[in-house]
Amino acid sequence: MRLLVLGGGESGTGAALLAAQKGWEVKLSEYGTLKQTYKDALLNKGIAFEEGGHTEAWVNWASLIVKSPGIAEKTPIMQQVLAVNTPWEDEIEFASRYSKGKVVAITGSNGKTTTTLLTYHLLQKAGLNVGLAGNIGKSWAMQLCEGDKDYWVLELSSFQLDGLRNCPIHIATLCNISPDHLDRYGYELSNYAKAKWRVTSSQTAQDYFICNADDEISQELMQKEGTKAQCLPFSLKEKQPLGAYLENGNIHIITNHKDELKMTIHELALQGKHNVANSMAAAIASRVLEIRKESVRESLADFKGAPHRLEFVATVHGIDFINDSKATNVNSTWWALESANKPVIWIVGGVDKGNDYSSLKELVNDKVKAIVCLGLDNAKIKESFEGLVPEIVETNNMKHALELSYQLGTKGDAVLLSPCCASFDLFENYEDRGNQFKKEVRAL
Ligand code: ADP
Repeated sequence: MRLLVLGGGESGTGAALLAAQKGWEVKLSEYGTLKQTYKDALLNKGIAFEEGGHTEAWVNWASLIVKSPGIAEKTPIMQQVLAVNTPWEDEIEFASRYSKGKVVAITGSNGKTTTTLLTYHLLQKAGLNVGLAGNIGKSWAMQLCEGDKDYWVLELSSFQLDGLRNCPIHIATLCNISPDHLDRYGYELSNYAKAKWRVTSSQTAQDYFICNADDEISQELMQKEGTKAQCLPFSLKEKQPLGAYLENGNIHIITNHKDELKMTIHELALQGKHNVANSMAAAIASRVLEIRKESVRESLADFKGAPHRLEFVATVHGIDFINDSKATNVNSTWWALESANKPVIWIVGGVDKGNDYSSLKELVNDKVKAIVCLGLDNAKIKESFEGLVPEIVETNNMKHALELSYQLGTKGDAVLLSPCCASFDLFENYEDRGNQFKKEVRAL
């Protein structure tokens, strides 16, 4: 029981603390610098740690490695781990050894956080003893140091899934699969898609798999890889005998043939088609857990959405301002534009992750009246949409972007920040970008 934790962020520090509590000998190694609060917590429990690099001898000492999801397998330290054949896993896998709670795990390229928070809301409001963890807030291991819950709703990224082994997942939800993070997967979509599929790979016939019947890549994987779990698909397009579907403005949730939950989409707190899909996925999970229909209906209607995801900010002189700063890839912006029902002034740009904008062209042509490019290098965006939109302007700061949008807009328009790109050229992160947007809207 000698554990080496690689990476001392939220998950790594959590794993080290949990391991120490459970009687492991623990060392933690961080390549960069450790946050003071994490250092204090490690010191407090007498856990050995280092920062500013990894000591090779520590790898040889360990009988198990828990690796931070941020450390890629191609890094020298992981190459060393692989060379000496020491087993390694993710913090989620490690934490699962010490939880008896039933796990509802949610992954996907887009919609993870929204669906996770919504599922948690549904379970919590129904009175279940439930925790929220994973790629969101406090790590699972850190929370387990304080005690277990009957249910855990976990948001899982593909990097976390890479390090999953036998973690029992009672309900797995795969929202969708579209290209993202390809740099970590040898630029192969199939590698990334397989990582997502791992969410169901250790499930059994007593478990449930909630998947997207409209998503081509998911359906291909269903054919190729399959699942042992009971499938409950959701669809915006086609009636499903079991699972959920949208028909004539109503969603239908059917987890057993005797009992159906029907609800109009106008009652849903989260608007936009993609959010109808997210709501259906969360509702299926809660019905599998036998939460009463009335409670599910109420919770789907009163959920307060997560900030920076199609977040309505204000109407100024008849112009709506919407913050979708979390849209850091093409697919999430596609859904934002799809849900727009007013002429759009679209604020877009930032660090391009190898984007292909062609799938947006039709929507942009239909719905966007002006583009405000917000980034250090806007050449690719200008080139992609030139001729489709009457007006394309550019800037490199948020205040100016809002001034430009406000000038370009008239009553009845919507200004949408949905950048398609990462934020690191001008902002600390997507939250900082969204918060600056909201601040400047209020200033208007
Ligand atoms: P994730 O945690 O997977 O990044 P979020 O819930 O944070 O997902 O949403 C990220 C972005 O994707 C937001 O812009 C949001 O409006 C959009 N989005 C949310 N759900 C979906 C979905 N099911 N399909 C496509 N885009 C979505």
